[in-house]
Amino acid sequence: MWWIIVALLLAKWGAQIWLDRLNARTVKAHAGAVPAAFVGIIDEPTYAKSIQYTLARGRLDQVSVSLNTAILVVVLLSGVLPWSYRMFLGWFGGSAWALAAFLMAVAAILALPGLPLDWYHQFRLEQRFGFNTTTRKLWWMDRAKGLLLAIVLGYPLLVLILKLVDWSGARWWLWAWAALLGFQLLMAVLAPVLILPLFNKFTPLPENSLRARLLGLAERTGFRTRSIQVMDGSKRSRHSNAFFIGFGGFRKIVLFDTLIQQLAEPELEAVLAHEIGHFKKKHIPKMLAASAAGSLAGFYLVSVLAGQAWFYRAFGFEPGSIVPALLLFGLLSGVVTFWFSPLAHWWSRRYEYQADAFAAGVMKEAHSLIGALRKLNEKNLSNLTPHPIYSGFYYSHPTLLEREQALRDST
Ligand SMILES: [Zn+2]
Repeated sequence: MWWIIVALLLAKWGAQIWLDRLNARTVKAHAGAVPAAFVGIIDEPTYAKSIQYTLARGRLDQVSVSLNTAILVVVLLSGVLPWSYRMFLGWFGGSAWALAAFLMAVAAILALPGLPLDWYHQFRLEQRFGFNTTTRKLWWMDRAKGLLLAIVLGYPLLVLILKLVDWSGARWWLWAWAALLGFQLLMAVLAPVLILPLFNKFTPLPENSLRARLLGLAERTGFRTRSIQVMDGSKRSRHSNAFFIGFGGFRKIVLFDTLIQQLAEPELEAVLAHEIGHFKKKHIPKMLAASAAGSLAGFYLVSVLAGQAWFYRAFGFEPGSIVPALLLFGLLSGVVTFWFSPLAHWWSRRYEYQADAFAAGVMKEAHSLIGALRKLNEKNLSNLTPHPIYSGFYYSHPTLLEREQALRDST
């Protein structure tokens, strides 16, 4: 059994390293001069910088992927999991509260080796390319808040799921799934009010021509919104974004302050039109439904694995409790889901094209959106020439060229 696990982990690791190298080769092959398609869109120094940025991120990714794989191999094969599980049971007993604490503790400990890499990414890599605006203090505060939220929100949910296993017998996976779904819906309502303000400040967009323009767009497209908020994204990074939060009458449009600085008014309107396109085409509920179907399949699979004594023994556990099955599933599901990511991203890219087409439709022109996309690619030093297999695995959005082409074809 153990060699199957090692083979699966190595297959994923090998594919990730191969993809990184393939992409680096493609990027280097285009490095000599700005490719013909981008002449006039991006200047020589910025293009050269985007190549260095892409290559540096690729190298860091290879380190991170290798570290994570090595840790998983050691953790799964050394017997440290069943050993610590028995210790924990001895000390704290087998109540749902104790077992949930065990799962939380394992997750927290396994997250520790990644911290130095996160640090390096923020304070070396992002710093070097002029993106970082996070202070050391803010970085640690973010991690502390994240841990606190996991304890306050994640721990009770885990306890509830483990109690449901005891209460509902063989069909526990249906109940656990329903509990998770309920929790996710509750979070979608509460997060904008309770969680996001813990990390960022939101201020209403002041009365100005931009606000009038964006509210005009919302009205024209029948998009009900309570307000337009500006988020202080510049507190952490110079990367930019826009999104909306909340449901129905509570809906708010959120623009990063960095986005407002980078784009002209018609371009901001086009970006918002794209976001409204996602809403109008019902992309969000469709994505939520797909992820709910995924978690249902996941819980069902755990329930099947929990009935297999060989699965427990292969990792040194005694059959009986659901907890080792949940833990092993959590650690190993990535070796399977990774291979489905091209499918998920293909689906997501389809939605991006639809939202772009919607934006061009309500703007009655495509050049504002094209202008916005060009600027965003330039400001974020996006890789303009990814290898198609690499972008297939990792890109949720089509590349700049693909989006421009589709926009021109649609108008
Ligand atoms: Zn989009």
